[in-house]
Amino acid sequence: MRVAILGAGVIGSAIAYYLALRGIGALIIERTGVACAASGKSGGFLARDWCRGQAQEALAEFSFDLHTDLAAGFGDAYGYRRVDTFAAATSERRARAPRAGGAPAAWMDGTYALQQLGDTNSTAQLHPARFTETLLDAACDQGARLHKGTVEEIVTQAGKVSAVMVDGKRIAVDRVVVAMGPWSVLAAQWLPLPAVYGLKGYSIVLRPTAPLPAHALFLDHEDEAGETHAPELITRADGDVYVCGFSDTAALPLSPADVSVDDQACDRLAEMAAGVSSRLQGASVVARQACYRPICEDAMPLIGAIPDTEGAYVATGHNCWGMLNAPGTGYAVAELITQADTTVPMVSALGPARLGTLRFA
Ligand SMILES: Cc1cc2nc3c(=O)[nH]c(=O)nc-3n(C[C@H](O)[C@H](O)[C@H](O)COP(=O)(O)OP(=O)(O)OC[C@H]3O[C@@H](n4cnc5c(N)ncnc54)[C@H](O)[C@@H]3O)c2cc1C
Repeated sequence: MRVAILGAGVIGSAIAYYLALRGIGALIIERTGVACAASGKSGGFLARDWCRGQAQEALAEFSFDLHTDLAAGFGDAYGYRRVDTFAAATSERRARAPRAGGAPAAWMDGTYALQQLGDTNSTAQLHPARFTETLLDAACDQGARLHKGTVEEIVTQAGKVSAVMVDGKRIAVDRVVVAMGPWSVLAAQWLPLPAVYGLKGYSIVLRPTAPLPAHALFLDHEDEAGETHAPELITRADGDVYVCGFSDTAALPLSPADVSVDDQACDRLAEMAAGVSSRLQGASVVARQACYRPICEDAMPLIGAIPDTEGAYVATGHNCWGMLNAPGTGYAVAELITQADTTVPMVSALGPARLGTLRFA
């Protein structure tokens, strides 16, 4: 079976990995670079039960458990660790005062109203780019191949997938998986697919002089003008601290290489982080970045066979939980591809049929 996976973000890489475990060496076609987009710039935060009550609940719980198994198998390749997770408030309108209470998060000395949201049973964290690369490398060790190029068309013949056009060249395939994150919307030109949008967000990576405990922090931040923001701050196993926050309505550029970074937004994130902890004041900023997360109309992932087109599948729309849900998505898509006529219960409510099809004029 000749399978092409379009996009080498965390979703495409996870699908390649689980296909390889079933003896199928897929061709992964990537335009810009492995984990060059959201999959390399996300927080890498994982929570087992934060999707309760949503259509992705079973996928999230299954994925969280697969993450545990994967980390046990890959060792410390991508800094996976369990974390304690907190919510807290910060304000630019209040005088900074040391927070009483000390442990368990004494280093967050600029915050107030600290609450624990999760512990090491239910929350974890990993380095997103290294995780994506690890899955893809493992897939390639077992027969998958990475092909650098831009997908320009999916070709069908008599209702079946027959080829993909990549940089003007035809590559014959029997199965295709659209996993181009927010750029999956391009595939709606060739196949009956629902709309996928991209929401831009900024993040920075800080390097403090001494490592901080294994914590994730979800903030309610009030700025000088009284506006509120919801930045997130995650300490990593390598000692760095990831901070993300502001979103932006800027349109998705055609190429991931053209995503622009707003220095002002990144400076604001660094200021906010310095307000959280005196241990982050003076930390060097080692990355300033921006990326787009893929979102469907109902904010749930889009995973399953594409209607009316034999051999075509989609896996995108993972919104703010793509790192969490990548293993379950990879597992489910591999199952759908290799077991014809099967259904995978944890993704059966996430298929394209639930949403209207986008039509290009
Ligand atoms: C600021 C921020 C923080 C986040 N934090 C978390 C978190 O803590 N935990 C969590 O679980 N999730 C988080 N997410 C969400 C997560 O990052 C995304 O859901 C996930 O990375 C999406 O992965 P993807 O593989 O679908 O898409 P992408 O990472 O966007 O990958 C798509 C790939 O397709 C390629 N491509 C595009 N067009 C073409 C083409 N024509 N031909 C070939 N290749 C093409 C691109 O180059 C890219 O490599 C966060 C997202 C953002 C924006």
